[in-house]
Amino acid sequence: MDGEILIEARHLSRRYGPTLAVSDVNLTLRKGEILGLLGPNGAGKSTTMKMLCGCLSPSQGEVLINGQSMQVKPEAAKRSLGYLPEQPPLYPEFNVDEYLGYCAGLHGISRAERVAAVTRAKQACGLSHMAKRNIANLSKGYQQRVGLAQAIIHRPPVIVLDEPTVGLDPIQIQEIRALIKELGREHSVILSSHILPEIQAVCSRVAIIDKGRIVFAEAMDVIQRESFGSIVLGLRRP
Ligand code: ATP
Repeated sequence: MDGEILIEARHLSRRYGPTLAVSDVNLTLRKGEILGLLGPNGAGKSTTMKMLCGCLSPSQGEVLINGQSMQVKPEAAKRSLGYLPEQPPLYPEFNVDEYLGYCAGLHGISRAERVAAVTRAKQACGLSHMAKRNIANLSKGYQQRVGLAQAIIHRPPVIVLDEPTVGLDPIQIQEIRALIKELGREHSVILSSHILPEIQAVCSRVAIIDKGRIVFAEAMDVIQRESFGSIVLGLRRP
């Protein structure tokens, strides 16, 4: 892959008190990629994703966005990234239009442009027919579509999706995976997951994280299925 580098994590580490949650992580995301961050529970995926988005400061290291340090230019992160956290802050009493309009405002989209931005995000995420439904009354799958729609509301070049299929039923999982692939046509994507088949189905490249460290990073098309499986299985062997 030789697209331009959009995000570069350099030697990222993060401590929570005595716990070293992420240690010396180096990652790049290039234009056009869907990069999977695969790892078991507690491996450091969410901590890494939060640092990539600027929601959490690293204890050491830095994140570059389009070559500029996020620490120096934090506003670049807001403009360039859309983030779907593991537990998105949806407001259940809002309907879809109201919520996405509110999110558009948070991103500084003017009132005049807000309706068009909301319409585009709803269309991209299959939500047009749900516009007036309260978020509380949507299925989990549709709530996750709303989460994806807020992540793309400002048309960021990159979207960062933290375990977006957790808690969904099998049909919803298939639908959300297909939607992420579709969104990957317009946005470069970083997707975290602990599910190997999900990464294989959706991603063009994978980085495996275990105990806070990247232990493997490769393009999907050069990975033999068997060897990939044994790497993943080997992670938790004593
Ligand atoms: P999961 O899939 O379970 O969400 P994860 O791979 O996203 O796991 P993290 O949530 O990044 O992993 O957690 C990495 C490590 O840091 C774990 O040991 C976790 O217990 C610890 N940790 C995460 N958040 C905090 C926090 N706020 N305070 C203290 N320790 C934390």
